[in-house]
Amino acid sequence: MRLSQMLWVTLREDPAEAELTSHKLLLRAGYIRRVGSGLYVYLPLMWRVLQKISAIVREEMNDTGAQECLLTQLQPAELWQESGRWDTYTKAEGIMFALTDRANREVGLGPTHEEAITAIARDTIRSYRQLPQHLYQIQTKFRDEIRPRFGLMRGREFIMKDGYSFHDSEESLKETYYAMDRAYRKMFDRCGLKFRAVEADSGAIGGSGSQEFMVLAEAGEDDILFTEDGSYAANVEKAVSLPPDAVPSPFDKFEKVHTPKAGTIESVGKMLKCDPTQLVKQVLYQVIYDNGMIVLVLISIRGDRDVNEVKLQNELTKLAGNYGGKAIINLQVADAESQQKWAHSKLPLGFISPSLDDSYIDKSSGVNPKLLRLADRTAADLQNFVTGADESDYHVVGANWGKDFPLPAVVNLDKAKAGDRAVHNPSQILQTARGIEVGHIFQLGTKYSKAMKATYTNEQGEELPLVMGCYGLGVSRLAQAAVEQSYDKDGIIWNKVIAPYHVIVTVPNIGDVKQMEVGEKLYDALKTAGVEVLLDDRDERAGVKFKDADLVGIPYRVVTGKAIADGKVEIVNRATKVATLVEIDAVVAYLQSELIPS
Ligand code: ATP
Ligand code: MG
Repeated sequence: MRLSQMLWVTLREDPAEAELTSHKLLLRAGYIRRVGSGLYVYLPLMWRVLQKISAIVREEMNDTGAQECLLTQLQPAELWQESGRWDTYTKAEGIMFALTDRANREVGLGPTHEEAITAIARDTIRSYRQLPQHLYQIQTKFRDEIRPRFGLMRGREFIMKDGYSFHDSEESLKETYYAMDRAYRKMFDRCGLKFRAVEADSGAIGGSGSQEFMVLAEAGEDDILFTEDGSYAANVEKAVSLPPDAVPSPFDKFEKVHTPKAGTIESVGKMLKCDPTQLVKQVLYQVIYDNGMIVLVLISIRGDRDVNEVKLQNELTKLAGNYGGKAIINLQVADAESQQKWAHSKLPLGFISPSLDDSYIDKSSGVNPKLLRLADRTAADLQNFVTGADESDYHVVGANWGKDFPLPAVVNLDKAKAGDRAVHNPSQILQTARGIEVGHIFQLGTKYSKAMKATYTNEQGEELPLVMGCYGLGVSRLAQAAVEQSYDKDGIIWNKVIAPYHVIVTVPNIGDVKQMEVGEKLYDALKTAGVEVLLDDRDERAGVKFKDADLVGIPYRVVTGKAIADGKVEIVNRATKVATLVEIDAVVAYLQSELIPS
């Protein structure tokens, strides 16, 4: 491609809309353009990168025997009602774009395709003889993200590879799941990414085991905890740990003590000369179920620990049935504003005990009149602890479960953190890293097939629900993650496998006939040899061309400058900036050998 003919505009200044370096660079180097919140156009250079990543994904997927297909992006609401996800995905913080068509039917724009594919499996799979099956697609997905940001990282329209497999047993599912694990590792290796596979929470998608693939980058939105010995890595949402041991309590007598203004862990610890590990603190949440029921949740947890809201969400989802609901629509800390709606009288904030009286809830507010009380394991294990006295400026010390406070249902809600010991090997200390989630693979089990009655007949003639797996990979997010991992002060440094072009031939001065002639000759020869090449034949100053070439990040730059007088050109490696003089006739062979994937 000749740059003189290409619609290519680079920006000198950092665009105000971008925070992340990769986002700034993709905008500045003319790869993407924003058209609205979370909506980006892939300009020709970007599209080439996306095509290359897609090709790698296809090759590795096809290699495992998966079959490519293309499902519809518009999906009837009924399918999502069958699975029970319509409300969670379209109401409140739901991320599905939903609309009503001219015949007054509700449809959604696919954020993911479990329902759509399960409906196909239900119609086409009859017998165990047809199993296993694995279908995948590479397609634009739509999600009305609460906080679209960082360019292609979190768009409202983005490209995903999503695959779904169907099996007659858990073993067969596991085989495909592990094959996907291997295939994903190959894809990310081929794309030149530094990544880590981590245990993950299965979230609203559901199912049992799941694993995420994280591209390691400071700017990542996910926190990862891992051990140095490599035997444990998990998303912080899912991670478990052994918290530090609690310091034995100095209080052996239960009594109420005056702690004026000491409404925080730190201040009460200082005043009573005790360690945060001897305190039980109460955290109040408010959950709204899909049937509109609002429940207040009082969590008791050790003073030095925090609630993992993903684990809490999972626990509260399990309890939905107790309140006549199926799923959670919203979960948040019960802040001062929400308290105004249901609190009968002012809560003794900072001084609440595990037995806070239900009478604080105004019965006419519509909120469930009883608090749901949960104790995290870290709190349940404590003896002679300090906690609130349900009265402002007072705490109790030397408290014990069963004697002074009934022990609520005990659950694991503790948020693991760096410095904790690993459960599998307490001599290993958890470390943290940040990552960008580029892939997520799930063992779904029978959640969707049961809900949607997608069954097969086994060898004995019994009708059973299909066992399912699903495997997502963010193609457009991956492209930007690659940039986030590889740039310098001058611009992007593409890995040669996913770069939009391999080589840029820069003619410093197009007015110089000789320079232009060598440039044209090399451009043709490289094209003929199958090298993907750009010719910078624009009427621009050499400095501008060099700057643009660095910014756009093409792996090799060939400069038809002064050296042509000696029959040579300069070849500059974008990553190392090393310049080599090469005989004009040897350029094609030189670049071909450089471009062989390592
Ligand atoms: P996240 O936690 O980052 O929102 P997710 O858990 O919602 O991701 P999945 O539903 O597992 O993601 O989707 C599969 C893959 O699609 C993700 O691993 C990610 O790479 C990509 N992806 C998800 N949401 C977006 C988005 N808004 N923009 C770009 N890519 C996305
Ligand atoms: Mg998401």
